[in-house]
Amino acid sequence: MAQTKYIFVTGGVSSSLGKGIIAASLAKLLQARGYRTTIQKLDPYINVDPGTLNPYEHGECFVTEDGAETDLDLGHYERFLNVNTSQANNVTTGRIYQSVIEKERRGEFLGKTVQVVPHITNEIKERIQILGNSGGYDIVITEIGGTVGDIESLPYIEAVRQLKWDLGEHNSLVIHLTLIPYLSAAKELKTKPTQHSVKTLMESGISADVLVCRTEHKINVDLKKKLAQFCNVSVEAVIESIDASTIYDVPNLMLEEGLDTITLKKLDLASKNDPNLTKWNQFLQRHKNPKSEITIGLIGKYVELQDSYKSILEAFIHAGAENEVKVNIKSIHSEFLDINKKSSLIESLDGILVAPGFGERGIEGKIEAVRYARENKLPFFGICLGMQMAVIEYARNVLNLTKANSTEMDENTPNPVIAIMEDQKDIIYKGGTMRLGAWDCELQEDTLIHKIYDRKKISERHRHRFEYNNAYKEQLENAGLVSSGINPQTGLVEVVELKNHPWFVGVQYHPEYKSTVANPHPLFIDFVRAAKEFSEQKK
Ligand code: GLN
Repeated sequence: MAQTKYIFVTGGVSSSLGKGIIAASLAKLLQARGYRTTIQKLDPYINVDPGTLNPYEHGECFVTEDGAETDLDLGHYERFLNVNTSQANNVTTGRIYQSVIEKERRGEFLGKTVQVVPHITNEIKERIQILGNSGGYDIVITEIGGTVGDIESLPYIEAVRQLKWDLGEHNSLVIHLTLIPYLSAAKELKTKPTQHSVKTLMESGISADVLVCRTEHKINVDLKKKLAQFCNVSVEAVIESIDASTIYDVPNLMLEEGLDTITLKKLDLASKNDPNLTKWNQFLQRHKNPKSEITIGLIGKYVELQDSYKSILEAFIHAGAENEVKVNIKSIHSEFLDINKKSSLIESLDGILVAPGFGERGIEGKIEAVRYARENKLPFFGICLGMQMAVIEYARNVLNLTKANSTEMDENTPNPVIAIMEDQKDIIYKGGTMRLGAWDCELQEDTLIHKIYDRKKISERHRHRFEYNNAYKEQLENAGLVSSGINPQTGLVEVVELKNHPWFVGVQYHPEYKSTVANPHPLFIDFVRAAKEFSEQKK
């Protein structure tokens, strides 16, 4: 078996430079040349996973097929590569320490003093190599969260230094992502912060092999030469990464700059085939040349931070391209929404999506948004909490159970149409204990959802503790709220829809996690199609 090659991506100068997008773009190019590539993210925080983090802290929590609650960068990896990630693709300091401490308690260190070096660094090295040792990949790209010089990144940097040595020549590569700031007063791009961050990396024993330079202006040859000389790399290893209008342009920009060729050269891998980006470029072409526009209201409570709904926003980009329409998203804060006050904003909407979420804040606004969409025959899409809100709205306003609620919001509601799942009742630990990951769902024939998926059995990813209460199923169904998707093992209602409405679907699962450039999600495609139809009829 050929040796797996390892690429480490570190960041310098500033956070938020887009290491995830650079890693995903390089992976895309390597994949498009025929190399089996995966990406892993190492996060230097102490939470065991981001599942317990507030979206304001960390953006969306991305959920994998195997039920790992992970960093949102894994969403980019899946959307770019169309390959599933797993628990092994996201490792945090919390998880590393948890595992080392458990080993210590089991006596596995045979009386030795347990230390950062070698025990924590060994655990990191093992976690990096799990994917490579699986035999499933030719190249593993490991993105190291944080910025070099941070105290919490030190064990990761030391693990990379050791691993580079263990792996030997041409089997690993360090790509350092850095910022070249532009000083408008001097009208100059400055290289000094990059020189310093490369030096900081060197103090830990690692020399960068490739520099990817984030910049708002073109970097000319002289500047590239200067960067190369002062940072000890060849000129062809200085890659410009200029601001792009869409993240989906970055693979092509990296191709033009030769990031993939220098990577292959340094890893001693053949670069005979040109990358095949035909399908990717077809998507880009459609994405950039829409024939019409629609506006979707995204009703949520974390709307101030766009990263909170990252996968939903990206799924709309994929579905928009498929329908050749530009999807404008109007983020509407559910807490301050008075939808019945007819504003020009509400009237501009061609569809409403009620977002996932937790807790009581803003739910009345969400329920009213569902009512508005139902009564005005506006396409409605409810995801997870959004589906639960649709059930509550129907119970309150159609069945006249005016105090109907979810026990998440009101434990003493007389009509708990949404209630905590039986197996969640005794759970005390909040981390990693929800109903997570892929579950089967059977779609009922002659329903909208069946028509959209065009098959009976589907599997989708989940992240919730509360569920549709089957005690109300008969009542809700008789009143017209169809349960069109059911989990065959548990009987749990996964999908609700309305018959006398052009497009009204609520799903307990999260379809957004499975939408990729190569495989846009059918529910998003059809919702956008319905919204487009609505918008055409309005005219
Ligand atoms: N808070 C709800 C539950 O736990 C919905 C979760 C979600 O939207 N992801 O069931």
